[in-house]
Amino acid sequence: MRPELKLTFYPRFLIAHECAHHVYRHLTHLGRAEVFGIDVLNHMLRQAELDADCFATKALREHDIEAVRSAQWVFDNSAAITSASHPSGMERVSHIELCLHQQ
Ligand SMILES: [Zn+2]
Repeated sequence: MRPELKLTFYPRFLIAHECAHHVYRHLTHLGRAEVFGIDVLNHMLRQAELDADCFATKALREHDIEAVRSAQWVFDNSAAITSASHPSGMERVSHIELCLHQQ
């Protein structure tokens, strides 16, 4: 797949990922977690991102695998970008691959 096509398909994964945050009510849960401190909040943020990626992967894998593969390509090419609140690109690529094969 050409790089420009990978970027074309990526928004479809991103929309499914954002829907997952709403379905799982992450904003509500994260708002309550603030009282436990920044470390707990960062851990929950990282897990919320992985859960949203997995939801998107499972929602798209049958009929829009290009969107899933484009997300892996995007995360693979941003692997050096890390933060306390977000998983690394490499971690997201691996987790998506795992979710592709889960029930
Ligand atoms: Zn997210």
